[in-house]
Amino acid sequence: MSKPDDPIGFGETEIPHGETLLEVDGLSKYFASESGLLAGISLETDQFPPVSFGVDQVKAVDDVSFEITMGETLGLVGESGCGKSTLGRTLLRLLDPTDGTITFKNDDLAELSGEELRQKRSEIQMIFQDPQSSLDPRMKVGQIIEEPMRAHDMFDDEGREARAKELLEKVGLDPRHYNRYPHAFSGGQRQRINLARALSVDPDFVVCDEPVSALDVSIQAQVMNTMEELQAEFGLTYLFIAHDLSVIRHISDRVAVMYLGHIVEIAEKEELFENPQHPYTKALLESIPVPDPRESDARGVLEGEVPSPQDPPSGCRFRTRCPQLIAPEAYEFTDEEWAHARTFMRAVKRRTFEPMAAAEIRREFFDGDLPRGDAGEIVKDAIDAVATDTGRGDESDDERDGWEMATDLLLESFAEQSICARERPAYDVEPEHGTEQHFAACHMHR
Ligand code: SF4
Repeated sequence: MSKPDDPIGFGETEIPHGETLLEVDGLSKYFASESGLLAGISLETDQFPPVSFGVDQVKAVDDVSFEITMGETLGLVGESGCGKSTLGRTLLRLLDPTDGTITFKNDDLAELSGEELRQKRSEIQMIFQDPQSSLDPRMKVGQIIEEPMRAHDMFDDEGREARAKELLEKVGLDPRHYNRYPHAFSGGQRQRINLARALSVDPDFVVCDEPVSALDVSIQAQVMNTMEELQAEFGLTYLFIAHDLSVIRHISDRVAVMYLGHIVEIAEKEELFENPQHPYTKALLESIPVPDPRESDARGVLEGEVPSPQDPPSGCRFRTRCPQLIAPEAYEFTDEEWAHARTFMRAVKRRTFEPMAAAEIRREFFDGDLPRGDAGEIVKDAIDAVATDTGRGDESDDERDGWEMATDLLLESFAEQSICARERPAYDVEPEHGTEQHFAACHMHR
């Protein structure tokens, strides 16, 4: 389908294939953690005035930067709650950014408002996860597809109908179904209607938020294939958000991995899958072929819970779950000593072993030999705090205190002193596949 002969919105600033279409720089989206009139107001009897206004912020997206080039598909992957959808919605200005710029065709979307923003919205569209709830059941398919065109004053009635029918065909549906209601279609067909609606205003950029997650696996590939065909025909650029790495692998040219509001790795698809450099990406990949990291063995690979975005860890946000945490420089650990100490620290923090005698703990975690110097003294104190023969690690009332003491001692002495806790990592890695930039937010590349 050629671009319609219409002056509104079509044929504006053309970006050549492969050139930057969207550039995001330092983008953040924070939410107040409480809502309501009195949210965040607390009574402070020892001060005047006796109230304080402290609203905690949930850092859903925090200082994120990346580019998307014309005609590519950037996959965005991460566990549920990592900020992917918030990022997608903030790019479209469905949410107002807290900070940063979103440069789209030389305009900063973060700065636009009113009519300027409304006009831009025809160039950027979104497809949502649930095709059932995103289609109004009271509207006919034709009306649904024509709705965005009407909102942007594109074409007359006849022109809109012609375009809607043409798009129905393009997305693999029968144009004669123009007057049917959404309930008459299957999930995959409804997502195709969504596609037709998004494309009706001839966008350059489409944010696809888990568009095939609600579909059967057999239907997923068909819808993705149609999306790829439409991309080639219309020169579309996609940001494709998914938690399923096999879906991401199918459709992406490049992949960005997100964790707790940060992008931790970006690389070409082959480079990311064959040469992952961030421990979080590696853990996600180890969970394949189980498709859903939220409900799968990924829990076993990815130990521990995702920390609260209200109070994210300092430095590298993955450090509280990272199996590769870097040794603190203040101690002279050998690699083996640090590996033992790190394993012991994680086990104490998560209480993954039964209380036992100090000598047994040394054998179990340190092959009998504690690290040398100050580090060894700290480990010894931590062992004593949880061991059964020191009076703290048995079933007495003191047991909890012992585990907590040992955890605090180890975390404060070791984990908090690591470069992983002190500096936010950001490094470029030499790619093994392709020539695109490979970014990895991990201090192992320092
Ligand atoms: S910076 Fe440290 S904690 Fe973060 S991923 Fe790398 S090794 Fe792990």
